[in-house]
Amino acid sequence: MSESVVIVGGGVIGLSCAHYLRDMGYAVTVIDRNTIGGGCSHANCGYIAPSHVLPLTEPGMVGMAIRSMFKRDSPFKVKPRLSLSLMRFMLGFARRCNHRDMLAGGRALQPLLEASMASYKELVQYPQIQCEWNPNGMLYVFGSNRALDHFGQIDALITREFGTAAAPIDASGLTQMEPALRDGLAGGYFYDCDATLRADRLNSSWRAWLEERGVTFIERCQMSELIREGDRLRAIHTSSGELAADQFVFAIGARSADIAAQLRCRIPVQPGKGYSITMDRPDPCPTHSMLFPESRVGVTPYQGAYRLGSMMEFVGFDESIAPHRISLLRLGVEPYLKAPHMPHEHEQWFGFRPMTPDTLPIIGPVPRCPNGYLATGHNMIGLTLAPVTGRLIAEMISGSQTVVDPTPYSVDRF
Ligand SMILES: Cc1cc2nc3c(=O)[nH]c(=O)nc-3n(C[C@H](O)[C@H](O)[C@H](O)COP(=O)(O)OP(=O)(O)OC[C@H]3O[C@@H](n4cnc5c(N)ncnc54)[C@H](O)[C@@H]3O)c2cc1C
Repeated sequence: MSESVVIVGGGVIGLSCAHYLRDMGYAVTVIDRNTIGGGCSHANCGYIAPSHVLPLTEPGMVGMAIRSMFKRDSPFKVKPRLSLSLMRFMLGFARRCNHRDMLAGGRALQPLLEASMASYKELVQYPQIQCEWNPNGMLYVFGSNRALDHFGQIDALITREFGTAAAPIDASGLTQMEPALRDGLAGGYFYDCDATLRADRLNSSWRAWLEERGVTFIERCQMSELIREGDRLRAIHTSSGELAADQFVFAIGARSADIAAQLRCRIPVQPGKGYSITMDRPDPCPTHSMLFPESRVGVTPYQGAYRLGSMMEFVGFDESIAPHRISLLRLGVEPYLKAPHMPHEHEQWFGFRPMTPDTLPIIGPVPRCPNGYLATGHNMIGLTLAPVTGRLIAEMISGSQTVVDPTPYSVDRF
């Protein structure tokens, strides 16, 4: 009989773990406290972005974060509250906002980004995966020369240190390349290494395919407690009863800190809330996915839909959607696009990103627990890093050679 694995958490990370574990012949069950693919993996911006090699811990981020706390319209927000874990998170983040740590973070991230993109290219060849895969790159667009020049320095750094080069686009080239843009913008940078997909379609088609391949999914099934036998995990208590297995993978995203005490390790994951709105396609509709770093809003065109997404709020698990925050998404694209948005919305959405203080994911064994694994902390690039995460987890559980060295992603670093 094949070894059994229970995966707790049915976001894109849990789905990917299920895929690669099933490939290796494991009997896989995925449980989720809500619906499969209904958490942070649902309506994100859909960027598969090897260009995002620099971690968020840039020099100057702390000043930016402090200034933005006093601006009502800032895409960044921290709700002041007495929380030791949030304070430790913020201090850990601030400590790493320097050139040396930023480059070290990028070096740790790059092999993951490259391996994940390679795995996506294989995955999307399967007809069962229906996700509007669009390998046409990503355009960064700037309205002011100051912001364009500043990004030019970042691009030069990324090219020098990581070999990920973008094509600079001047003002006239910009509207030729992307007719949906307004005239008079300063310029842009085009990363042809990037792609986009529609996350909700990826999740639903992946789930259906995995079900066909024998993976069991249990929704509305919340894990509450771990049951140990010595160091090993024997089973988990859930709202649907006890589930025993040979191996356990915890892919519960922003909720990961909830199980830290039970796993007897530090998991400093904080929820970083972001929003998106999906609407009818405007006319003209962008042909490229674009980022507008000055307003920090991104747009993604889909077949029959169009999405705006952004924001980073440290407000705990506040599940409200303030109209004021949603309107910032619309305002954020107005300076750039001829037809920036449409009145008819398909969906207003928020998701809690699983943020770590060094902005690297946590992928690997639970310390001193031979059959428990963590796959979490993917910050702003969990969709991008899903395939490589699933592969790494399957390789670690089966004791195979890993596609990249997993040492930098160990939870032991905290
Ligand atoms: C606005 C926005 C835009 C984004 N854009 C991009 C992008 O363009 N590209 C990119 O790469 N990333 C993007 N991201 C980030 C990306 O969405 C996340 O990193 C990724 O979805 C995390 O996946 P996950 O599977 O870890 O978490 P989730 O999708 O949140 O899945 C975790 C699951 O665990 C379940 N769970 C939690 N606790 C329990 C429990 N006790 N028992 C059972 N189940 C439990 C939850 O219900 C949930 O379904 C974006 C995020 C946001 C908010």
